Amino acid sequence: MQLHFLITSEQRATGAMFMESLNETVLAFIYPTDGSRTFHTFFCPPMRIIALSAEGQVVFDEVIARWKWVRLPVCRYVIETGPKVDYAPFVQTVLSIAGDLPQLGAIDPSLRMDGLLFAVLAEAVADIRRIRDAHRGEVRPDIQRRRFEVWERGQIVSSAGFLLDFSDTCHLPDGAVKLSYSILKAEEPYIDEIVAASVGGIPWRHEFPSHCMRCGKRASWRPILSPKSSAPVEILWRYQRPENAIPICHHCTETLNLLRDRSLQIDLVWGLWGPRFEALWQWHRAIRTKRLPADWDLYTQPLWPADFGGESWETGSGALKFAEPRPPHQVSRSEQHMQALRRGLFSKKFRGRQPGETPLQKLLDFRLDQPKGDLR
Ligand SMILES: [Zn+2]
Repeated sequence: MQLHFLITSEQRATGAMFMESLNETVLAFIYPTDGSRTFHTFFCPPMRIIALSAEGQVVFDEVIARWKWVRLPVCRYVIETGPKVDYAPFVQTVLSIAGDLPQLGAIDPSLRMDGLLFAVLAEAVADIRRIRDAHRGEVRPDIQRRRFEVWERGQIVSSAGFLLDFSDTCHLPDGAVKLSYSILKAEEPYIDEIVAASVGGIPWRHEFPSHCMRCGKRASWRPILSPKSSAPVEILWRYQRPENAIPICHHCTETLNLLRDRSLQIDLVWGLWGPRFEALWQWHRAIRTKRLPADWDLYTQPLWPADFGGESWETGSGALKFAEPRPPHQVSRSEQHMQALRRGLFSKKFRGRQPGETPLQKLLDFRLDQPKGDLR
């Protein structure tokens, strides 16, 4: 097991980013003063975050498996480690050593700027570093399109734009500003779609339930609508949205003859996602017939044009605040949707024990716990 102290603001900014796994590593973030801090886990492996007061009292202790912002209560020290590591033995060490470490953070950037702003800036610099490493010099659009997922490219251009906004007021690493300009130039033709993808196209499968909606056995999420083979890579993320997928096991796929029954596929995905699938389907049809509304604003409506869905998440809105992938909990379903679901799920007899609607109900009840209201 290894204990690392992160003292300078740059060390703290990078933390566990780009590590495959923290395993037994313990990262200790040492701050010169108390403060409420915003951590993020973007590009970090799953980890446990522990926040300590100056006296060593644990004020926060959570395992964070997905990439997100984490708002910590007022604390002096923060520990990041693998989800299963017992950090208790390190608390005393952190406390006793912290006092002796050089207080490079005496002019702590997180105190001069809002903590969240600093974290975003740190993330932006890290993003730009990845670009430098991937391209070694000039930013080439073909490498950018091949090396990064579309949602990552969206985060990278956001970072580039953000860095440029702050390049006058903050001291930034050499080259970061120049690279930011070349990224924006290289991505210019795709910028609307990839920024939309940076929110709506993030991976979700690993945190959604993976039980068959018909029998409850292990399943994978199967997409239903598919893109034209000529579709540009920048729009494919919408076909990877949960609204275009159903969790179904191999056995049920066979029993229902699902792969050869188009109307059954549609019944299942339509019944599961109701108005949210309808909205996605409208986008799918519009892009195939080249009839997307000209005034579609992807920055406020990243998923699909406003007219395609209702006003709320439940009724199919594709607005920015509803764009992050969510399981189908509380989708508003009419009797038609429920009939489609039952038609799909119960059209064939089960062999052995009839599971009824239990697996489906379990899926519909599943929700992610999302902290709300901390990001401003
Ligand atoms: Zn099944």
